[in-house]
Order: sequence, then structure tokens, then C-alpha cells
Amino acid sequence: MPQVILACNPATVNDEACGCCGGPVNAPVGARLILAETAAPVCTNCARPHAPSLAALVHLADAATRVGRIGRHSVFPPLTALLDLASAAEQYAAAASPDEYAKTL
Ligand SMILES: [Zn+2]
Repeated sequence: MPQVILACNPATVNDEACGCCGGPVNAPVGARLILAETAAPVCTNCARPHAPSLAALVHLADAATRVGRIGRHSVFPPLTALLDLASAAEQYAAAASPDEYAKTL
């Protein structure tokens, strides 16, 4: 199983080859997942089975960035954006510690 790590992406990534499957990887500036051995980017489909909590964390960071960007231009972000953020947070909580998350349900 390849070791997937979290990295800060200083520039937008477009159509780089995934280090696991060779498929295209597109990532905005910010957090992204890479292979520890080669620093090759990892696509979302490959990241979920190998590092579910890190994949959920990147999704949460992307959602938070998007809502933060919206919040700069309006007093209250749209409800759909807040629901996306809440969904991403719930997915991260479930992936990071599934046993603890199950106790809260
Ligand atoms: Zn892949």
C-alpha cells in the first residue's frame, strides 16, 4: 500500500498524472495528497481507500476555502455553501475516528 501524505500545494495543478492510477489530477492551491516516496500527486479516487481521513481532510479544507472566499463578498454565505461545509466536516469526522463518530449518532 503506498504511503499518502498531505502537502501544501503552492500552485494550481492541472492534469498531472496520479502516482497510483495514472489518471489526471487537478488541485487548487492549498492542501493536496501526494505519495511519500515520489511526491507524485494522488487523485481523489485513489486517496480514499489508501488514506480516507486525509482525503476527507483535503475535501474539508477545499470546502472551507470556498466558503471563506464567498464570505469575503457577502455578510452571510449561501445556505448551500454552509451545507457543503457541514457535509465535508461530517465526512472528515467519520473518516478520522469512525468509532468515536458512531457514538455521536
Ligand atoms: Zn489515482
